Amino acid sequence: MKFEELTEYFDKLEKVSSRLTMIDILTELLKKISPDEIAKTIYISQGVLAPPFMNLKLGIADKIIEDAIANSINIPKQQIEQIYRKTGDLGLAAKQILEERSKLQTINKNEYSILDIYKIMIKISSTSGKGSKDIKIKLFSNLISSSTPREVKYIIRYALGQLRLGFGDYTILEALSVVSTGNRQFKLELEHAYNICSDLGYVGEILYKKGINAIKNMQVTLFKPIRPALAEREVTFHQIIERMKGKCAVEQKYDGFRCQIHKKNNIVKIFSRNLDETTHMFPDIVKEVINSINENEIIFEGEAIAFNEVTQEFLPFQETIQRKRVYNIIDKIKEVPLHLFAFDLMYLNGVTYLNVEYEKRREILEKILKNSKLISPSKRIITGSENELETFFEESIENGLEGIVAKNLKSNYTAGARKFTWIKMKRSYKGELSDSLDLVIIGYFLGKGSRAEFKFGGLLCAVYNKKNDMFETISKIGTGFNEKEMIKFQSLLDRIKLKNKPVRVDSVIVPDFWVEPKYVITVRADEITKSPTHTCGKKDNIGYALRFPRLVSSEEKIIRNDKNAEDATTTEEIIEMFKQQKLSKISE
Ligand code: ATP
Repeated sequence: MKFEELTEYFDKLEKVSSRLTMIDILTELLKKISPDEIAKTIYISQGVLAPPFMNLKLGIADKIIEDAIANSINIPKQQIEQIYRKTGDLGLAAKQILEERSKLQTINKNEYSILDIYKIMIKISSTSGKGSKDIKIKLFSNLISSSTPREVKYIIRYALGQLRLGFGDYTILEALSVVSTGNRQFKLELEHAYNICSDLGYVGEILYKKGINAIKNMQVTLFKPIRPALAEREVTFHQIIERMKGKCAVEQKYDGFRCQIHKKNNIVKIFSRNLDETTHMFPDIVKEVINSINENEIIFEGEAIAFNEVTQEFLPFQETIQRKRVYNIIDKIKEVPLHLFAFDLMYLNGVTYLNVEYEKRREILEKILKNSKLISPSKRIITGSENELETFFEESIENGLEGIVAKNLKSNYTAGARKFTWIKMKRSYKGELSDSLDLVIIGYFLGKGSRAEFKFGGLLCAVYNKKNDMFETISKIGTGFNEKEMIKFQSLLDRIKLKNKPVRVDSVIVPDFWVEPKYVITVRADEITKSPTHTCGKKDNIGYALRFPRLVSSEEKIIRNDKNAEDATTTEEIIEMFKQQKLSKISE
């Protein structure tokens, strides 16, 4: 397909205001895409070059694009900057200038295909080293001079990471199901395939080239991360034992970096909870995996946490987080040694273990790790007794840990899903909800009164409703920010401002500015209440809201960079927490 035709669809997608229409348009588009184009079309539509674990980022700065526009259109850079400042959209600005120009002169257009554009963007992004800035400007200005105004608009937005067509992974999966079968029937199979490879482009390509049976039979692949299993929560020991129907495993819950480790002979790669490749952060763990694990091929998972091997003490999260760096890692290894507490096995020598019972997976994992020093199985007990569970929980807290994760002995590894096969319980704070919430920022308010010096005055936050792939509001957070946080929010949110409400947002409240649902923050509150002003879990126009919400942040962590918008707390979780809150009030 020609890139120009793709941008016609982008124009249509930009204008829709309902998710169903969006799926219809997306389906119509994807029907016309060939098997060789599908992966790249999906990446471009998502505004990325590749899935996060491939570390292939669009590395094109605003300034380079401004220079490229100035070169190719031959206008002063200041003029571009001026329009950019006014519109906040460099793509639109360039389109407008080009349209004016093309009224005066005919320009030779190249009729690029989707694949041509993708190739050029890869080339520009991967150019590095001395003189790379000039090469990038040249490549980009050639591209602008030989594209139509509408193509230029989207190429620039794509390059800047500002494409924002507004659909998430599940919308694409739904459209793929409709394309391949005429209805949504195979959404679950496609979702499963996605959960075990975390690469939507790859799922699309397998579907288009090999058909739905290949999707159904898709296997775990080394070096493609599996989307992590997640835990539900309960607030009493009694409820945990009840949910688990008796005996279960109870593991310590470590607050560090989640590491999914892939090994094939001497090659090791590590992926984060968020599916970024983080191998570079853990040379010590990589070395230990190679030296102490004899298996040729393995995928297993654990939590890396700062740990003093001599005193056997856990160090606080503020210590662990210091290992999140790009430079001087070797020095930091000595200062902040990590220990990996392994808790699951997903694949071993050609065999997928996702559908094998937890207890069996654990047994094999323990055997594999018996020669390791820096890596050991997570500490756990097996119990059906509330008292033993409570004692183990208290012990974990005393040791400086976050709490516990109880696990169903017979359960599968539930890739990409939050299920009651894992139940987490954290220390509860009196008078507060026992767990914090991860909310997506979807809009912000301007400051008033003493805050007028800051443009920033508060946040509109939402949870994620996985069933219909929508973000539903649950809280306004207007107080408790310090100056540093306000400055940070202002600068981050300014860059992702939108003119209209994003299609996947359901909100009664209208903030001063909408933003792309992108950043996740951690919030504590006293209580979940029912409210007509919020759309979270809305029934008969009454939704759920938070009482006394406040931001949880630290020097290092204002935004939860390890979570995407779709990883936020879900509507279902809120409903569940509301029920639990009622129960614990009764039992108090
Ligand atoms: P949280 O903010 O509580 O870490 P989360 O949304 O990141 O929540 P959850 O599934 O809710 O993830 O909680 C499980 C997390 O706890 C895992 O992502 C993992 O990183 C961590 N963890 C620590 N110890 C364990 C363990 N023994 N078993 C499973 N997960 C563990």
